[in-house]
Amino acid sequence: MTLSRRQFVATSSSAALYALLVDHRLLAQPAAPTIVELRRGVSAFSLRGGTIGILQARDGLVIVDSQYADTAKVCLDGVRARTARTIDLVVNTHHHGDHTSGNGVLRAAAARIVAHENSAALQRKTAAASPPAAGAPPAPVPTYPDATYSSTWSERIGDETVALKYYGPGHTSGDSVVTFEQANVVHMGDLMFNRMHGFVDVPSGASIANWASLLELVVKAHDRDTLYIFGHGNAGTVTGASADLLEFSAYLQALLTAAHDAVKKGTPRDEFVKGSLGARFADYTSPVPNNPNFSLAGNLGKAFDEASKK
Ligand SMILES: [Zn+2]
Repeated sequence: MTLSRRQFVATSSSAALYALLVDHRLLAQPAAPTIVELRRGVSAFSLRGGTIGILQARDGLVIVDSQYADTAKVCLDGVRARTARTIDLVVNTHHHGDHTSGNGVLRAAAARIVAHENSAALQRKTAAASPPAAGAPPAPVPTYPDATYSSTWSERIGDETVALKYYGPGHTSGDSVVTFEQANVVHMGDLMFNRMHGFVDVPSGASIANWASLLELVVKAHDRDTLYIFGHGNAGTVTGASADLLEFSAYLQALLTAAHDAVKKGTPRDEFVKGSLGARFADYTSPVPNNPNFSLAGNLGKAFDEASKK
């Protein structure tokens, strides 16, 4: 499912507050920043980096992920056109910079920032490992979560229940699935690259096998009407349904099946990574073209390494 005509019209009716979206496919690189209303107070904002989820409930305001400082400011300005309320909660779905670099902008407007405990640890580890280059201006001080959880976390905020759940390693070892229970909308963070060669962050504890499995578990934990927000999406399609999760799970499983076959046959790694997954996944694109971390060859290599460990 993509944004429907009805949702688009609902967005258009808020034209005084938000830039108009001419076509939902522009979500990845919109001509103007856009907050798109989804359902029961939940919206999606795309400008640069991972999709931001917004809940404006009765007596509650929640923001999921913060992109970058400049785009977080644009998002916050859009929210402020609606409400002056303090943000009850900012959630980081995981530690990557395109989901947490705007934390500092949201921090002053927010009561708390929450993330999985591994996400907070990885954010600190990444910051410590990336000192600014000699002569470069000092990097902005990272803003870390002030609350973490290990398995599940849930809180009533306004007339909505926000539930975070950790399903084990996937894209990293600290990804949260964020469910707005009454709205029946789920923010997947980067556990969903919709029809894209998603980034498998091996140094941060990613697991292709568990990632494929957990997507099936997420589908089982929700229902046919659940609407999902994706961290990144092919052609700007950053919302969808359970079928999209199962499709990406099939892609991850296909990587591993091919890798296990190659390891069993003794195919050399450098030969294996030049292969393909066949026609089914031929329309997958790269979130970051020409970067091996976001390519089929890169993912085949990581699957080969994961399959070789067993
Ligand atoms: Zn990520």
